[in-house]
Amino acid sequence: MIRPGVLSVAVETPRHSSVGGLLDYASEQTLPPGTLVRVPLGRREVPGIVWERAADAPPPPADLRSLTAALSALPPLDTEWRELIAFAASYYQRGIGELALAVLPPDLRKLDDTRLARRLKRLVTAAAPGPTAAAPEPARPELNDEQAAALAAIATARRPVLLHGVTGSGKTEVYLRAADAALSQGRQALVLVPEINLTPQLEARFAARFPARLMVSLHSGLTPAQRLRHWLLAHLGRADLVLGTRLAVFASMPRLGLIVIDEEHDPSFKQQEGARYSARDLAVWRAHRLGIAVLLGSATPSLETWQRALEGRYLRLPLDRRIGGGAMPAVRLVDMARLPRETQHERVLAPPLLQAIGERIERGEQSLLLLNRRGYAPVLHCGACGWKSGCAHCSAWRVFHKADRTLRCHHCGFAERVPRACPDCGNLDIAPLGRGTEKLQEQLAALLPGARVARLDADTTRGAGALQQQLGAVHAGEVDVLVGTQMLAKGHDFRRVTLVAAVNPDAALFSSDFRAPERLFALLMQAAGRAGRDAAQAARSEMWVQTWHPRHPLYAALKAHDYEAYAAAQLAERRAAGLPPFASLALLRAEARSADVARAFLHEAAALAAGHAGVTVYPPVPPPVSRVADVERLQMLVESASRSVLQRMLAAWLPGLHELRARHKGLLRWAVDVDPLAI
Ligand code: ADP
Ligand code: ZN
Ligand code: ZN
Repeated sequence: MIRPGVLSVAVETPRHSSVGGLLDYASEQTLPPGTLVRVPLGRREVPGIVWERAADAPPPPADLRSLTAALSALPPLDTEWRELIAFAASYYQRGIGELALAVLPPDLRKLDDTRLARRLKRLVTAAAPGPTAAAPEPARPELNDEQAAALAAIATARRPVLLHGVTGSGKTEVYLRAADAALSQGRQALVLVPEINLTPQLEARFAARFPARLMVSLHSGLTPAQRLRHWLLAHLGRADLVLGTRLAVFASMPRLGLIVIDEEHDPSFKQQEGARYSARDLAVWRAHRLGIAVLLGSATPSLETWQRALEGRYLRLPLDRRIGGGAMPAVRLVDMARLPRETQHERVLAPPLLQAIGERIERGEQSLLLLNRRGYAPVLHCGACGWKSGCAHCSAWRVFHKADRTLRCHHCGFAERVPRACPDCGNLDIAPLGRGTEKLQEQLAALLPGARVARLDADTTRGAGALQQQLGAVHAGEVDVLVGTQMLAKGHDFRRVTLVAAVNPDAALFSSDFRAPERLFALLMQAAGRAGRDAAQAARSEMWVQTWHPRHPLYAALKAHDYEAYAAAQLAERRAAGLPPFASLALLRAEARSADVARAFLHEAAALAAGHAGVTVYPPVPPPVSRVADVERLQMLVESASRSVLQRMLAAWLPGLHELRARHKGLLRWAVDVDPLAI
């Protein structure tokens, strides 16, 4: 029972300063849960959200403070939204208020009730008529058998659907039809994509298909004003379609009827700071709670999703054929060990690959070359004394960028002009070791005289509009060979590409990160999907892989385009090693100026965790890059065969960790990462 005059309010406090960050305030008005308010906290005034008062909440303190203001102009955030927030906060071990306020548009808290009311009125009148409903009926292709079967199954499925099909198999068309069905029942649809900048075509297709509907986007690239506007349109139920990145999973959508997660395996659905939530997993939870359909689309599902499909918890709907009957490109593995010995290390590209690229250029076709390392060379090296271009602030090498002659740390950003001579011995002959995209571009330009060789990576796409401009040049055929990082493999519909090559992908095969092979396989399959999207060209399309391990099972599965064989092998390894999806993991991370401080915190944390049956706490270890910007990092893995056992243990552990932290003054930061992607 809510006592008259007492309101529980979710505010941004660390989790255990009070129960889940809920504080009591006195109010003369009765405000429904979900109302935005402003309340005093210490000497500040902070935003908050009225929340259900827990049945077992302690009686309010005698010196109860009053709330300062209520933003009653805004319709309250509904029960469904609050339940999602409460679940996510509890699952990822954060405060309710902390999470709730972090996922609302930042500009919302700047408005008072009067200005908010005015803003809402403007929005409603501006958005009311909508684009003219008289627009011509957009063309819709006739579904093929697989698509029709998938759509029919989606309509009746009572569990999450895995739409499993390679690039070009017609998944997006199924999303569009499913969205159409939801919209025509008066519901809203939410479409989540890994990175919106990389998928302008998807946005364009939704816009073209639903010209009479209001679609908004939600992602971190919007200005604060745009983000507020789009969020409000979704919250008011005015926007029928919301297209967004992971943060959009928290959009308030009162009529939500469908969630689509495109490229569900993509790591960017996991937030890597603050509340480290998985937007994919939350979307599945949200859909289940609402009893609505959720579509997970991928050519290479995450092993978590795949295992659930194998167990029948998710419904797998295959799209096994490419639209237009185009074949998947032939995969060619180049055995680097069999190149003539003296050229092995100098050769950028094996001669047959270079020749194949040359043939593409002659035919006016394009090639994509993937190298997962930007910059010119990963490190500079002195042959005389062995000096290497380390970062003074991180346990990492600084990368040589030739264009501006800098050494740059990709972890902390520390950059300096390249020294003329070796800083240790004065030797003038310091040389780059290894190869990044910048050097590959340079070498290719030399090897292919006259060819137009462009580069696309985080360095070349920094400026506003730079990415769109470069993609435009590729689409317009102004580029023969495009060199880039994995950014290239995602989403683009490059019609003229008939060759994709992975220049040096082997490192991921032997990485200490157990998910590295999964990511590599997905990347290569996705990259292969870039080639020959045009059925007419599919027959001559090729995916090349330069490797020292041509017999590795991952490459064998790639060659056969056999995701299932690959997944079976990986799952067997994961099962044997007791790794996800057969175990649940959490990481406790600690950061301090000295590793000893971080270690002491983790050791005491481990002692607190002792006695939890069914949970294993491993000793603290440094992550692959242990020092960044002069901060030492350590992490401790917590593992259980049961997700709920782990959840109970974490919930019991966290209050103790908050207390512990207060006693470890030197600790800069600590965090729990539930279901971490990298360990
Ligand atoms: P995916 O999302 O799996 O990459 P798409 O849905 O984008 O596949 O389909 C690939 C191409 O084929 C697109 O140009 C799309 O418009 C077209 N397409 C999809 N389904 C059909 C169909 N049933 N008939 C004809 N063309 C289709
Ligand atoms: Zn030297
Ligand atoms: Zn650094």
